[in-house]
This record gives sequence, structure tokens and C-alpha cells, in this order.
Amino acid sequence: NEDRRADEAAGDELTRLAERHLVQPWPVSGSIGAEARGRIEAGEGIYVTDAAGRRLIDGPAGMWCVNAGHRNRQLADVMAAQAMELSYNSPWYTTNAPSAVLSARLAEHAPDGIDHVFYTTGGSSAVETALRFMQFANNVKGRPEKKLIVSRQGGYHGSTYLSASLNGRPRDHDWMDSAADLVVKLSCPDPFRRPEGMSVEAFCDFLVEEFRAVIEERGAEHIGAFIAEPVMASGGVIVPPAGYLKRMHALCRANDILFIADEVVTAFGRLGHVFASQDVFGIDPDMITFAKGVTSGYFPLGGVMIAGRLFEELRRSNHSEAMFAHGLTYSSHPVGCAVALKNLDILEDGLLDHARAITDHFQASLKALEDLPLVGEVRGLGLMACVECVADRVSKNPLTLDLEVGKRIDRHCQELGLLVRPLINMCVMSPPLTITSAQIDDMAAILRKGIELTMDDLAREGLWKG
Ligand code: PLP
Repeated sequence: NEDRRADEAAGDELTRLAERHLVQPWPVSGSIGAEARGRIEAGEGIYVTDAAGRRLIDGPAGMWCVNAGHRNRQLADVMAAQAMELSYNSPWYTTNAPSAVLSARLAEHAPDGIDHVFYTTGGSSAVETALRFMQFANNVKGRPEKKLIVSRQGGYHGSTYLSASLNGRPRDHDWMDSAADLVVKLSCPDPFRRPEGMSVEAFCDFLVEEFRAVIEERGAEHIGAFIAEPVMASGGVIVPPAGYLKRMHALCRANDILFIADEVVTAFGRLGHVFASQDVFGIDPDMITFAKGVTSGYFPLGGVMIAGRLFEELRRSNHSEAMFAHGLTYSSHPVGCAVALKNLDILEDGLLDHARAITDHFQASLKALEDLPLVGEVRGLGLMACVECVADRVSKNPLTLDLEVGKRIDRHCQELGLLVRPLINMCVMSPPLTITSAQIDDMAAILRKGIELTMDDLAREGLWKG
């Protein structure tokens, strides 16, 4: 008992420290600088343990990143060994073995011709790097006016100024400045919310024609890049209509617009492959951004895969003195790259096969939740899925139900042993790829119970008719 009291006192002190000194992502001004979020104390496999000692299934794998699962001894050991061998070297003047080997191995997995890597510290810096490289390349090529970036409503690309300017989710820009003049946003390719009465095929035509119209209106000579998550992640796991990415890619090629696939979430096994662009969607982008799963979240690392021909063009240009004045202290970090190499071994040695093998069961188990009247749609691909709740299935209205439904479900699920990632009216599931069939059954059963309890609450409070 004394031990427990001591633990509680230590926990209270941590909460106080966080409230006084810690600022966490996406705070609201009403509690900014004075907030302590629920503390996670430990992780093991697909589970985390919270401060109350509850063991929870890590439904979102942290932030879509703990692909190899928590407490992986191999990843921890390689990190320690590399830190003892070489903890850091300046990428300005020197290179290191892990980054060279990792680059070659990533090039083997990337579509043909995408054979170079620039390492960053995470996803935002990867996107930022891709965009700045596009700007630089067009300056060197003597077409400084070809700089517009086309992104989509519903997309998420990061929290640095330029990457955040591409974001298109509700609320992303309500209180924040952005480089709006550099960006054009297309419609969200969400088949669930396509215009009334339109077939999915016609919706796909509409989306492609919209891009074509933007190219005509702005002029291909003004558009530098199109950026897209192959499956929109934080926007609610939006799987675009069949053929959409290929057709958007073809428009880019025809108009000399760089296609940047933002695979920060979809790479490293989330869709069953190291990269999804070619292996799942049949496209070969000019650049692929990645982060998160590259180290299974054990070390902050990201990067951009870049097609070699883009470098050849620069080497052949008349401006051999033009400098790509861009680099991060932690580019090519030896510890991060060593962890990524081991993580890649784990993926190649069976984890990718396992992820592909359990995908159908994962998707079917969650799809079964569509029989609950609060659930409008369950969608997903690979080991990412979204349960979207709606006020009623005819109007598909999420707003009258924006009663923190995701948070309500999350609260119930946490009591029952599952961490959910609530997104307004949606619950996003993307567990560690190590999850077993039986654990998928547990996860789906808890989520069902959490939604049922939420339906009871909403009905009792007179907020929902059912
Ligand atoms: N791109 C995508 C598709 C993402 O989902 C995220 C983060 O969630 C980012 C970029 C930004 O990555 P980071 O948070 O590592 O900067």
C-alpha cells in the first residue's frame, strides 16, 4: 500500500510538471500550457500500459508508427550498439555506413529509377524537403514560375510552414497562417461523400477532370508538383476510387508536374509492402516521402526518395554552382539509419508477409461493425481502417453528431482495454503489424462494445435517435 501511495504521489508530481512546463501537439488556447494528457508508462507488443496500470491494445500504433510493435529487443539493441559505435557524424562534411547501406536497400524496394534518399527528422521535414527540392530544381532549370503545389482537401502533410500549407482537413487553417498563394487544393477523393446520385466511376472522372481544369486554368508552366497520400490517413483513411492515382499520375507526367507520393503512413508495411505506390497502386512517383514506420517509431527519422533522373537533369544544367541550400543537423543520422536497417530486416523476414496475411481478417472484423446504427461506414486498406459515425445514414451528416463522438467511444474503449484514435466523429485503427488474428478479434469486440455504450449514452442524453 505504501508503494502504491508513493507511486501515486510520483504520478501526481509528473502531472504537475507536465501542466506547468510541457506543451503537447495540437493544444487549444483554453488549456494551452496548462495541460497534462493521460500518461503511458510502458509498451509491449501491441499493448501499452497507462498510468493506472491498465493494459490497452494500441489501436493506432502510437501515431501509425509502431509497426514492429513495442519493446522489440532487436531494435533496442541495435540502437544501443550504434550509439556506442558512432552516435553522430556531421552530414555536412562526412558520411556513415548505416545511411549508405539503408539508401541502397530502400532503393531496391522503391519503384525503378527512384534510387536516391535524402534523410530528415520526420514526415514534415520530408515533405518540406521534397517541396524545396522541386523549387530549387525549377530555379536551376530556368523556370522559376513553375512552383504551384497541388494538394487535396482532407489531406495532411505536416506541421512546418510549407508542409502545413498543404493540409486540407477541417480546422487545420481556422487559426493558423499559411503560404496559401503557393497552393491549389483539389477535392477530397472520398467515395463515401461523393455528390449525391453520382457513381464512384463518375466521381473518379470528376476528380481527374477537376485536376485537368486546374492545369488548364493555371497553366502547366506554373505548377511544380502534385502531392498525395496514396490513402489519406489523418483525413479519415480515405481510399480513393480505383484508377484515381494512376490517372492523376498520368496527368502529372503529361504536364511535367512532379508527383510526390506522401507515404509517411502507407510505407513500411502498413499496406503490406515497403512502399505502396508501385506495389499497391501501380504508380512510379518522382518522389516518395516517408517517416514513422521506417524505424517503427523507435527513433525520429524520415526521408524523401528521389528519382535519379532529377539529379541527372541538374548535373547537366548550366548552373553547376547552384546550391541546394537545404540540410538538417540530423540528416542521415547513424543511429536512426541503423534502427531503420534492423526494422527493414524485420519487415523482410516475415512481418510484411504476416501483415498481408491478416489484412482480410482485420478489414472484415471492423467492417462487421457497420451493422451498428451509429456507424455510417467502415473503410480501409491493409492494416489501416476508419469507423465513421454519422447522425443518420441517409444524410450522412457528421456535424449534428460532432458531439465528440470519437472521444466518447475512446473513453469507453479505454475502460475496456483499447486505445482508439478519435478524430471528430471517426475512430481510426492502425495497430502494430504484429497483431494476431485473436488480438484482432479482441480489438473489434471492444470497439463494438465501446460504440454500443456510446449509442446508449447519446440516446439517454437525447442527442441521437438511433
Ligand atoms: N505526412 C503524412 C501523410 C502524415 O500522416 C504525417 C503525420 O502524421 C506527416 C506527413 C508529418 O509527419 P511528422 O509528424 O513526422 O512531421
